[in-house]
Amino acid sequence: MADVLGSNDAQQGKRQRKMSVASLPAAVCEALREHTLHFAACHGALLGAQGPFKHAPCSLLPYPFPASLFTQAISLSKPFNMLVDQCARDTNWLFRVVRTTVEHDEFTRRLLEIAERVTAEGVVQPLQLSINRSDYMIEQPSANATPRILQVELNTISVSFPSLSAKMCELHRHTVARLAVDLALTDTAHAEVVRGRPGLSAAMNATSAAEVEAALPSNASVREVAAALAQAHDEYASLVSAAGTPAPCLVVLMIVATTESNVIDQRGLEEQLWREHRVPMLRMPLAQVHATGVLSADSRRLTVAAPLGGLVEVSVAYFRAGYAPGDYTGEADWAARETLERSLCVKCPSVHQQLAGTKKVQQVLAQPGEVERFLPAADAALLRTCFAKLYGLEADGGAAVDAIVQAAIAQPEGFVLKPQREGGGNNFYFAELAQALRTMSPEERSSYILMERIRPPSHQMPLMREGILDGGAATCELGVYGVILSDGKRVLANRSAGHLLRVKLEGVDEGGVCAGFAVLSSPVLY
Ligand code: ADP
Ligand code: MG
Ligand code: MG
Repeated sequence: MADVLGSNDAQQGKRQRKMSVASLPAAVCEALREHTLHFAACHGALLGAQGPFKHAPCSLLPYPFPASLFTQAISLSKPFNMLVDQCARDTNWLFRVVRTTVEHDEFTRRLLEIAERVTAEGVVQPLQLSINRSDYMIEQPSANATPRILQVELNTISVSFPSLSAKMCELHRHTVARLAVDLALTDTAHAEVVRGRPGLSAAMNATSAAEVEAALPSNASVREVAAALAQAHDEYASLVSAAGTPAPCLVVLMIVATTESNVIDQRGLEEQLWREHRVPMLRMPLAQVHATGVLSADSRRLTVAAPLGGLVEVSVAYFRAGYAPGDYTGEADWAARETLERSLCVKCPSVHQQLAGTKKVQQVLAQPGEVERFLPAADAALLRTCFAKLYGLEADGGAAVDAIVQAAIAQPEGFVLKPQREGGGNNFYFAELAQALRTMSPEERSSYILMERIRPPSHQMPLMREGILDGGAATCELGVYGVILSDGKRVLANRSAGHLLRVKLEGVDEGGVCAGFAVLSSPVLY
């Protein structure tokens, strides 16, 4: 497992110097670093594809998060799940909203066109499975302001880290318990520095399971996400059996990118699905679906060639790729996406659900009366408590759009400019935001939305990437996974499904762990 440490000489040199980060004594940092590295190796908290594998970038301590805001974020999960399900089914509304962004956005246009063709032809599978993740930051512009959560975005495709995130909770429970013991034996000044952090002292003192749970909440993300995939798989199996034509071999098909660094997270989910549910999962890039996929003429059941020979039928197409233009390397990949969308298998997500997760949909839903179209008033009101200010940039938006564009150019630090993209690294901030708004035509601008910039508090955090310590004032983003399985008439499952906490150093605008901006963490509630 030497590879987990990284092998570059410069890195080795840096590591050997004992470092103090995030106001922690160097000896404590070193102990945390080694402990975390070895825990990651023992439990497969790793990034990589074919090896060498590296430990998942992470914080060495859990990140302080207000307990009441954590509970609030979890409580929003079910109504958000419902909202995704409903938006994706209201195709007139969905297509009208998304169409305003596509004139200068070929990628979103192609997704919309597939959705439109599939809808016109007639969707054969009414079951929709969503595995989504609603992401929040804490808005607290000054130390004495009351903190509240604001939604950053709602992800409906390829939500990552259900497996690694659950491991972060285990890592930090272990870290905190060990720290309590180790620091009891050592220099009291060290102990005070560590215990002085919000939430940490209570977490270190926790002895009963209930006290541990209250401080370091358990995270069922991998179990819940696997259970949702298994339920959709079982529903499909029942459906084809009831039709009198049971499939000899049914699989969940994970659509994967050809270059992917987050394979271990995906494998962790695959392994959970097999161990707990005996449901097999196959990994396949879109090109391979194109090369071997066949739709039956009558019922549009999809079969693909299994890697070791034979044909298998797809129960669920689970997309861990397909969210970015680079995931479609040519027309074959686009054709495969359309074949999957037309097929009887349950799509997770369908292209409709994917479009329901665009920033444009988020912005329109925040307008008066829009979220209320889809949800009972009480649920809509609940969701509105976490909506940030969002602004559309429609080409025909008139004076209102002109005014917000001018405001953002004058004070770009108060806004984020977002295109219809996923995966981190796509937004504009500060001078680049102002420059983009100054130079784009009104038609080009309409592919973007503007969002108020959230101002989160920070905490001193030790972090580690590739075995190297880093740290300082850091902010966090909480993601809450949600799963919903419905056929439009019956809701077969709707629940909150664990969480993800990502941490980044203050001054880093973007997020995303695989994109290199943030690291994985877990919350310590206070
Ligand atoms: P993506 O789908 O690419 O993840 P996001 O909307 O999540 O797009 O933006 C990426 C990152 O940018 C977030 O993880 C967050 O760190 C930062 N960000 C996004 N919106 C805001 C905002 N309104 N205020 C502050 N930071 C933001
Ligand atoms: Mg996203
Ligand atoms: Mg995001």
